[in-house]
Amino acid sequence: MKAVVVSKDNNKLVEVSEIGLLRSIKNGEALVDIEYCGVCHTDLHVAKGDFGDVQGRILGHEGVGIVKEVASDVTSIKPGDRVSIAWFFEGCGHCEYCVTGEETFCREVKNAGYSVDGAMAEQCIVTADYAVKVPNGLDPKQATSITCAGVTTYKAIKVADVAPGEWIVIYGVGGLGNLAVQYAKKVFNARVIAVDVNDDKLALAKEVGADLIFNSKKEGDPAEWIQQEIRGAHAAVVTAVSKVAFNAAVNSVRPTSKVVAVGLPSETMDLAIVKTVLDGIQVIGSLVGTRKDLEEAFMFGAEEKVIPVVQARPLADINDIFKEMESGTIQGRMVLDLKNYFYAKNKSPLSNIGKRAF
Ligand SMILES: [Zn+2]
Ligand SMILES: [Zn+2]
Repeated sequence: MKAVVVSKDNNKLVEVSEIGLLRSIKNGEALVDIEYCGVCHTDLHVAKGDFGDVQGRILGHEGVGIVKEVASDVTSIKPGDRVSIAWFFEGCGHCEYCVTGEETFCREVKNAGYSVDGAMAEQCIVTADYAVKVPNGLDPKQATSITCAGVTTYKAIKVADVAPGEWIVIYGVGGLGNLAVQYAKKVFNARVIAVDVNDDKLALAKEVGADLIFNSKKEGDPAEWIQQEIRGAHAAVVTAVSKVAFNAAVNSVRPTSKVVAVGLPSETMDLAIVKTVLDGIQVIGSLVGTRKDLEEAFMFGAEEKVIPVVQARPLADINDIFKEMESGTIQGRMVLDLKNYFYAKNKSPLSNIGKRAF
């Protein structure tokens, strides 16, 4: 079986390896034939060792595939079902977070493609009760994006608590933010302001439903402009990996609003105490989404209210995709096709597989 594993060679990030067959499944588990797996910035962090050394780990937390086999005690899914493998791979099921609808904050959480082997492989073993079904009618390539960016932004807007017709500002409209715009507009019926430093991303945000767009690199302070134009937004979601965006978000909202933090710059934000207290502002972190959130996020995808921009690429392209990601040239999401090592136009020889030649 071929899989994308974090390289033990410090000169490379990952390699496509022949790793043999997986162990047999145990009680509560299922074996999934993976169809597609999205490639995420988080994978790049894991591969570089930013979250700790995980050499030899199979990457991938945006996986979608077909159940091949289930253990005899499994009742939640059956062979033939299409299911997802998300970053939230499994919680303990009994702690205060798991039993109160906050399972992503479980302290015993397992994360696919990081603390357990993930979905960038021809097959993956999952904990059956945590593998959320992908509904019929949703393209499996698009489903991979909803497994990560989709559910993360859908959940963030839920947390932002925006009512129909109210204004929400989305800071950063790249891969995550583009889906945030779509969920905010088409599912929550909010009015949406998109803020970014990149005109192409803003144009795409406009296309998928943003009512107003603002380039903070060219047009000045977005908070000042938002306060002038609409007397402040009713909520903000920050997907940008930039401290400046977090600061601006707090200054963009009206009294009693929520500012939801999703992006992860390794900095601290400047939170003005006076504004926070006098305006009753709440700043809230939001981490991916629960199984229920993912089920809902998938449903809106199947209804075509939300359409992720994806492009399928063969397995052999993984290192190229990481390079493109680092140079910032990717629009939408690159999705690895686990059924194809390379596409016909690619003439590279198959004999490299298994020799760790990547
Ligand atoms: Zn991801
Ligand atoms: Zn737990």
